[in-house]
Amino acid sequence: MRFAISNNTRLDANPGASGKCPACGAEMVARCGSRRVWHWSHRGTNHCDHWWEQETEWHRNWKGRFPKSWTEVAQHAPSGERHIADVKTTSGHVVEFQRSHIDDAERSARERFYEQLISVVDGLRLKRDRKF
Ligand SMILES: [Zn+2]
Repeated sequence: MRFAISNNTRLDANPGASGKCPACGAEMVARCGSRRVWHWSHRGTNHCDHWWEQETEWHRNWKGRFPKSWTEVAQHAPSGERHIADVKTTSGHVVEFQRSHIDDAERSARERFYEQLISVVDGLRLKRDRKF
């Protein structure tokens, strides 16, 4: 994730920083290596949102086109189900950036959960996608 919560503000991952997950409140670890974009991950556990996709430069570039306050917005359903929207606008539209394959059942579940969902799919992820 790009942001964790620290002192009631959204904090970018940086070496030595500490913060909490905006969805579940768990402690987060700032991952600031050279192979992946700097990000936060849950300390010692899996991500609390099983729909969450490993973040890449592609995701980060898309999210960067929106106001910070619209990105990585935690959504809680009355059932207790929770997910983190890549982007949620002030009008309630959710934008998800998708690079990996998801099956029809998961796509339908996401559409039900978010209601006003726009999916942006990376159509150039695979080498054979580029042969046009
Ligand atoms: Zn969490």
